[in-house]
Amino acid sequence: MDRVGVFLCTGCDIGSSLDAGALEKLARSSGAVHFESNPCLCAPDAVASMRAAVDAKTVDGLVIAACSQRHKLQEFRFDPSVAQVERVALREQVAWTHTPRHEDTQALADDLLRMGVVRAKKMAPGKRLPEPVDQTVLVVGGGLAGLEAAQAAAGMGHPVVLVEKSAAPGGWLAGVREVVPQVPPYDRLQANPVPDLVRAVGRDARIRVLVNTVVSRISGQPGHFAVEVEGPNGKEQLGAGAIVQATGARPYDASRLAHLGFGASPDVVTSADLDAMLAKGELARPSDGRRPGRIVFVQCAGSREAAHLPYCSSECCATSLRQVMAVHQAWPEVECAVLYRDLRAPGQVEHFYRAVQEQSGVMLARGTVEGVTASGGRLGVKVKDSLLGERVEIEADLVVLAVGMVPNSADGEAIRQLRDARKRIERNESETQRKAAEEVAASLAHHDGTAILNLAYRQGPDLPVLAYGFPDSHFICFPYETRRTGIYTAGALRAPMDPAQAAEDGWGAAMKAAQTLFALEHGEAVHPRSGDFARADFFLQRCTQCKRCTEECPFGSIDEDEKGTPQYNASRCRRCGICMGACPERIISYADYSVDAVASMIKEIEVPEDTEEKPRILALLCENDAYPALDDAAMKRATWNPWVRVIPVRCLGSVNIVWIAEALSRGVDGVILIGCKRGDDYQCHYVKGSELAHKRLENVQETLTRLSLESDRVRVVELARNELERIPVLFDEFAERLDELGANPLKGF
Ligand code: SF4
Ligand code: SF4
Repeated sequence: MDRVGVFLCTGCDIGSSLDAGALEKLARSSGAVHFESNPCLCAPDAVASMRAAVDAKTVDGLVIAACSQRHKLQEFRFDPSVAQVERVALREQVAWTHTPRHEDTQALADDLLRMGVVRAKKMAPGKRLPEPVDQTVLVVGGGLAGLEAAQAAAGMGHPVVLVEKSAAPGGWLAGVREVVPQVPPYDRLQANPVPDLVRAVGRDARIRVLVNTVVSRISGQPGHFAVEVEGPNGKEQLGAGAIVQATGARPYDASRLAHLGFGASPDVVTSADLDAMLAKGELARPSDGRRPGRIVFVQCAGSREAAHLPYCSSECCATSLRQVMAVHQAWPEVECAVLYRDLRAPGQVEHFYRAVQEQSGVMLARGTVEGVTASGGRLGVKVKDSLLGERVEIEADLVVLAVGMVPNSADGEAIRQLRDARKRIERNESETQRKAAEEVAASLAHHDGTAILNLAYRQGPDLPVLAYGFPDSHFICFPYETRRTGIYTAGALRAPMDPAQAAEDGWGAAMKAAQTLFALEHGEAVHPRSGDFARADFFLQRCTQCKRCTEECPFGSIDEDEKGTPQYNASRCRRCGICMGACPERIISYADYSVDAVASMIKEIEVPEDTEEKPRILALLCENDAYPALDDAAMKRATWNPWVRVIPVRCLGSVNIVWIAEALSRGVDGVILIGCKRGDDYQCHYVKGSELAHKRLENVQETLTRLSLESDRVRVVELARNELERIPVLFDEFAERLDELGANPLKGF
């Protein structure tokens, strides 16, 4: 921005800690065209004065040297197309956390203010690009979650297309007579709501239901998806703005449960088999058609076992309780025993659990089933670790395995790798390359033909999945979210859940879809940077087609042309900056965040040349978790090393290695990067950012060697949002290590 003004707050201990006069001088010598200070900068008169300076065009960039960027958002909000705001956290990073009126404290404030001014100068005016979007919500999957999503989206005024691959909507639940109670008093079976829901959706003129239909291609981006569906009348082209995938789950493959007797006798069945029987009003042993005298239900059949499904499938306990109640009501003479490791009856299901427990002829017992034997038409269920303390064998006429659930997802990344490998085989590049490609293709062959959404995205035709096949993106903060913007998941596809949760989930995902359409219509990004409208800008004249941005973007936002030049899809982009961190040519930037802007901030850190005992440390903190944790630590008046200079970054993945090289070559003694937890149970808001930062920093070693510097001068740390007390420790420990290493030998060069 051309006309930067500095607005200093002297309240909240800032004025009593720092020399405000010196800061004013510094602001003016740094190029600020305007300076104001106020003992309460967030008070209406002070804010009005700031707005007047903007309205009078005295300033177009505001450096607010006061509290952290996470506070007073309303007060300090300006239209970015008129004025850009840079916040300098003098309160949290200086006044509340360092010795007042000390030269080191003042030096810290001076650095932060200079850094703020230069960043404001480097910002460009934002440009909002609102556009008309297709308001249609495409729902893929017509089970309970999909039906609820369709109804919810239609209720919010969106046209809906619901695509169901089978002959009728309703999903597996359509074949069930009664369900676990979802209304008070929660102690009796409830009529299955799905048939009514199917009828209501069928009658709703806003919802178009396509059965016997699959999605054969989706291209484009949120707001403008071009969808091709294939049904009984052939292919049809549709438009959609957002998508909810609710393709549900299927029972775990019981043929893998031979240790629980499956296959040893036809009288060992799954809970899905029993539901099919009950739906017909029958209860008969498959072997001889006789009514069983005793049924034993084996819980966690394949769930919570490393060799099968390591997770809890969440609803099998409630399903068995429902089946026990149904059997008991229709055939009270049939005994039922439920053998469980832990019977999980969350929320109101507890009332139903108690009601089942009180029925005569029903036994709910804890124990681990070791095996099921079949002999002479009788089954024996061997149980250990029972409450009785001894190994026991329970006789049964019918054994029901409460099998877990497996999401009906397609692993988009695996399918892409499979397709890439096949292309490499066709290209027949070299013997070694062909063999390697053949190995990849063989190991991924089971993904052939599994695609569901058939996305025409460079990064694969379906949603990427986590270890167990659930296409989640950030289950901690953003349920329904996936790694493809504008596409949300609902129901058992997203996480193991019972029908009541799946119904709520449909609504949740529909609301996310509606939110996305609203944001796009206003030219804004979706969470976690909702409200942001600066798009990534690619200076393609200098692009070397290295493909790092296309490969590393966690959200599949960037496709490529045939030469490998990136094709950016702004509506898919979450503005994480990971592409900016990846690009070796440094040609990706935003109006308010760029490699140049942060590098310029680093250049403003004053590095004392001759004071070995006063090193300088650059701390790049992820603004999603680490930076808020720092703020909270400051709120608790933690203190830390005064030589640390903090720059918040959108994600550790947005850190371009050049910033580290710049800092070290200017004599900064060490660089610490603090970001979210990585891995499958990550907390990184941009999924892969933290992981990528670790990977990239493995390569930074080369730069350090080139600069003749020790590897310990750069450290990456994972920090959870609530680990406030670790922050000062991390800074102090790092400072101690740098002390051991001695001053950066490049100081003064
Ligand atoms: S900012 Fe993030 S989401 Fe957008 S293109 Fe770059 S890496 Fe992808
Ligand atoms: S990372 Fe940079 S140089 Fe490489 S393809 Fe992307 S824009 Fe081009």
